[in-house]
Amino acid sequence: MADAEPRVAVVGAGVVGSCIALALRKRGAAVTLIDRDEPGRGCSYGNSGAISPGSVAPLAMPGVLSSVPRMLLDEESPLHLPLAYLPKAAPWLLRFVASAQPSRVAVSAARLAALHAGALDRHEALARELGVPELFVRRGHLHLYPDARALAKDAAGWRLREHYGYPFRRLDRDGILAMEPRVGARYQVGVFVADHATIVNPFRYVQAMVRAFTARGGRVRREDVRALANLGDGRWRLASAGTADAADAHFDHVVIAAGAWSRRLLDPLGLHLALESQRGYHVQFQGGRDTVSRTVVLADRKIFVTPMEDGLRVGGTVEIGGLQRPPDERRAAILARIARETFEGLAELASTPWMGHRPCMPDSVPVIGPAAGRPGLWLAVGHGHLGLTDSINTAHSIASAMLGARSVAR
Ligand SMILES: Cc1cc2nc3c(=O)[nH]c(=O)nc-3n(C[C@H](O)[C@H](O)[C@H](O)COP(=O)(O)OP(=O)(O)OC[C@H]3O[C@@H](n4cnc5c(N)ncnc54)[C@H](O)[C@@H]3O)c2cc1C
Repeated sequence: MADAEPRVAVVGAGVVGSCIALALRKRGAAVTLIDRDEPGRGCSYGNSGAISPGSVAPLAMPGVLSSVPRMLLDEESPLHLPLAYLPKAAPWLLRFVASAQPSRVAVSAARLAALHAGALDRHEALARELGVPELFVRRGHLHLYPDARALAKDAAGWRLREHYGYPFRRLDRDGILAMEPRVGARYQVGVFVADHATIVNPFRYVQAMVRAFTARGGRVRREDVRALANLGDGRWRLASAGTADAADAHFDHVVIAAGAWSRRLLDPLGLHLALESQRGYHVQFQGGRDTVSRTVVLADRKIFVTPMEDGLRVGGTVEIGGLQRPPDERRAAILARIARETFEGLAELASTPWMGHRPCMPDSVPVIGPAAGRPGLWLAVGHGHLGLTDSINTAHSIASAMLGARSVAR
């Protein structure tokens, strides 16, 4: 890499950091992508693969306060909060509830709509460019409800989609079966969103990004970054566990894309983001990928059923339990049981559980861009339930803001 190239460190090689590193390298920056783990092994490993630009409704919608207590008491609820964690979660939860005011929801939805715009076509083009076009499958998403009453509970979210120009089609039971013949009798009402897509192996997608990045001369380092410091001359120094301070630890720009762990790096700098982990689970069946032909959402239970290239993945659950406690295997077991009840043919199949930390802001809107008052420090944090979808526009946004017209698309 030439000396004149701006030196950039991206901390975190999830889908967000990897996509940013590639976009910056394409514009000619000398980029080092740093992760303590193999790239793509964080939250980005086990998501449901949905590219959902129409998901403009934030998680905190009006009425959330009245439904939370019932959800917390129901063992099978999509929302789970271990009581011991409640005192720690309380400040974030209060901000979450405050975000559900209608005026704030309107602002969040507008921001999400702007962030999602064009994501579908950009992911399709990127998958092609990376040499993995087979990972991008554009067959729409089918959302399922037991009845019209259940659908009515989500009416505000569907209205927002319509408002932002994402069309959908309502289906009766026959319409559901015509699209997905193996859906069980519980589901009588469907909503089909045609212009949505699925990445059928999110981990392989990140790996392909990182391969393209290194092929263009980007560097990947496996380090646990412990701290960053502003050197006062416009540069930043990273300190990693077990590595001596070296000249190549100095950068003109640092992008924090460390997912749910980002606060550990930002708090010591006085940057206190309201970031909380929403732990999500999946079970992946060995086989069973022909159970459905596209992403199917059991909307009343907030569960995504995805035909991945290596098996059927059933993902969901919001567990507010922090970064430390071990996964609760009961959450994954509930997902497996619901899937087996809904679709025939899964009873005999073995399944593997997984848990990951969604990095979530109270209003569902990620923080993307330069950190105020800290030149050279950039944030790409808090992508919540939509980090795969929004990785691509986050990367474009950071790359254009940092490098402006340096559009060296090599
Ligand atoms: C069950 C489930 C289903 C989901 N489904 C979807 C979906 O269908 N569509 C969608 O768009 N989104 C989905 N998501 C959300 C999406 O997966 C996340 O928003 C996204 O993965 C966040 O990406 P990230 O790069 O910010 O974080 P991560 O993937 O967690 O990456 C952060 C990286 O930073 C590294 N790191 C952290 N601290 C340090 C440090 N100090 N030093 C070095 N490295 C560090 C970690 O090792 C990790 O690799 C889902 C999430 C879950 C849990």
